[in-house]
Amino acid sequence: MSIDDKVRSIVKEFKAYVPGKSKEEIARNYGIDPERIIKLGSNENPWGCSPKIEEKLINEVSNLHQYPQPINPELMDEISKFTKIPVENIIVGGDGADEVIDNIMRILIDEGDEVIIPIPTFTQYAISAKIHGANIKWAKFDEENGFKLDVESVLNNITEKTKAIFLCTPNNPTGNVIPTEDIKKIVESTDALVMIDHAYIEYSKEEYDLTSWALKYDNVLILRTFSKVFGLAGQRVGYGVTSKKVVDYMMRIKPIFSLTRASQVSAITALLDKEFFEKCLKEGIESREEIYNGLKKFKQLEVYPTEANYMLVKVKNGMNSSEFCEALLKKGVIVRDCYSFEGLEPYYFRVSIGTSEENERFLKIMSEIVE
Ligand code: PMP
Repeated sequence: MSIDDKVRSIVKEFKAYVPGKSKEEIARNYGIDPERIIKLGSNENPWGCSPKIEEKLINEVSNLHQYPQPINPELMDEISKFTKIPVENIIVGGDGADEVIDNIMRILIDEGDEVIIPIPTFTQYAISAKIHGANIKWAKFDEENGFKLDVESVLNNITEKTKAIFLCTPNNPTGNVIPTEDIKKIVESTDALVMIDHAYIEYSKEEYDLTSWALKYDNVLILRTFSKVFGLAGQRVGYGVTSKKVVDYMMRIKPIFSLTRASQVSAITALLDKEFFEKCLKEGIESREEIYNGLKKFKQLEVYPTEANYMLVKVKNGMNSSEFCEALLKKGVIVRDCYSFEGLEPYYFRVSIGTSEENERFLKIMSEIVE
């Protein structure tokens, strides 16, 4: 007997998650000065977080010996004002939106239940669903059709056993949004919970925001995060907007203290600093245009239109994505090789928005590699 015999068989099937590469890792592996490295691999905010957060965090240090509040009323109020959603319909997650995804699976899934995931999409859904015992039914974002969601591939998979459907919009990594009518059709075809992942919604058109649907439908959860436009990926704060019933169930199993004092203070301050938010959003959208237009000029690349803070690119110069990304790494540029995304051929990478200087250097290095 060994510990191996005690570990759940489903865990043995798992491979460790492949995250975007860090600056530290590339500096070490390629002997590059970390200052020269451009990180465009993880859909972060290149302008960082609100400058007001530093002082707040320093002030919070003297409280760090005390447990945080499991629910911080000020944070709830500020999220409520920001989203125009009552506090009772909001649940905050302390490992970011990832925690909300996992908590949803924890409240819904019994062994053998089914979850529908159109691919290619954010890989965390399948990881969480599987570990809680779900069978995954794959639907598709259709590559032949500019990665438009194949609605029938979702509807045809709905059965009595369906517990959840994940719809990422704007979708990671493809960048496009799912038309509202298609989401409505899916939501109204099932009692299963439809998670509409709006991690990147701030970068999309304002009228597209579906957050208020959480008040209209019992079976909708809208996923939001502080990791993107608010620049707080390192603080791990996300939230779900959903029916009171779902909030109530999730509150029963949520890790109690997963939001730290530091993360709470950071998220509140980020919400209060409207000026910084507006600046990051405006410059983020300009940056997206800059990279998109820059990459469009290379005929050996196919660049996909996007409503997020990144875009998907197909390499057509004879290299596969791993060779291409490796060539970029050697020159100190980190993008996201998409080979690990289920449902994508090995020719795609994803690049996030950068500052103007980063974009300029990135495009110059691209021209050296593509041609
Ligand atoms: N959803 C999508 C579509 C994402 O891309 C990400 C992060 N990459 C998340 C959710 C999770 O975000 P968080 O950092 O809040 O856990």
